[in-house]
Amino acid sequence: MRLKIALVSVLCMLLNTVACADPLIVVGHKNPDSDSIFSAISLAHLRSQQGIAAVPVAQGKPNPETQFALDFFGLEAPTLLMKVAGRKVALVDHNHYAQAPDDIRQADIVEIIDHHNLGGVSTAEPIEVLIKPVGCTSTIIWQLYQRANISIPPAIAGGMLSAILSDTLIFRSPTTTDQDRAAAENLATIAHVNDIQKYGQSMFLAGEADLKTAVIHLLIHRDLKNFEMNDNKIAVAQLMAVSFDLLKDRKEAFLEEMRKLQKEYAYKTVILMLTDIKNEGTELLLIGKNAQHIAQAFNLVLKNDSVWIPGMMSRKKQMIPALEKVFDKETS
Ligand code: MG
Ligand code: MG
Ligand code: MG
Repeated sequence: MRLKIALVSVLCMLLNTVACADPLIVVGHKNPDSDSIFSAISLAHLRSQQGIAAVPVAQGKPNPETQFALDFFGLEAPTLLMKVAGRKVALVDHNHYAQAPDDIRQADIVEIIDHHNLGGVSTAEPIEVLIKPVGCTSTIIWQLYQRANISIPPAIAGGMLSAILSDTLIFRSPTTTDQDRAAAENLATIAHVNDIQKYGQSMFLAGEADLKTAVIHLLIHRDLKNFEMNDNKIAVAQLMAVSFDLLKDRKEAFLEEMRKLQKEYAYKTVILMLTDIKNEGTELLLIGKNAQHIAQAFNLVLKNDSVWIPGMMSRKKQMIPALEKVFDKETS
């Protein structure tokens, strides 16, 4: 019996067939956004179609925007999974240890598909890595489907479209590329979405429905990412809204929560980007000794722990590179 099992697992390793018991775990970042959820679902489906058993998982529940998209296209949220030790893992929409499952160093990372800066993940063996400067991981996965000539089920296409619209703020973010537009148009056709703008707006509205009432602690964690810069621990959260007043009205409560977070987790700096989608800019809330330095990096002055930065939309393309420069000169 034991020999039989051993033989089966050797065969599994060799063939990597769908029938194998230890599937590839496809996971997005902590505090998952739409891209992390739908990239996991779409890559797991693609790999399964290619004969590699794969399951999508998530490190958290879908946010209201993602839940709207899941319901709209009739998809199930991925299973919650926080522990991946000993498993084969594909990372999507992130490549930083701080955003991966806590025990990721005990897992076997076999693949990374992402659109963020390289964040210091190292592996024992060579692995598949595909990182492109596009607006969304789902755009890259759409290209993989094209290349493999595998068709995308309409529901999954709808999810991938939602991820692209979410990450690119319906093509308004400076991270948007022609590749994202091409992917979104094709995915909309497959998913039978006739009006991309209209669908995107209804998705954003669903996402901000609870901004007025949700507990501040939960709101800050909805899209909070941890970074290590020059040995400094930093949190950068972002909330965006078309109805910007919903966010601005709660500014004092946000700042109070940020001070608590800084103490509790010993962050050097806690940053919250309140992004106004309509007027294209960000009210930056900053807690930390070097807060004024960060404002100066944008040639601005901090007042009451905050500063308005016109044109600032993207954490990845605008905020993080500026922070890296500030923290390069900063010791822990
Ligand atoms: Mg993301
Ligand atoms: Mg993304
Ligand atoms: Mg995002």
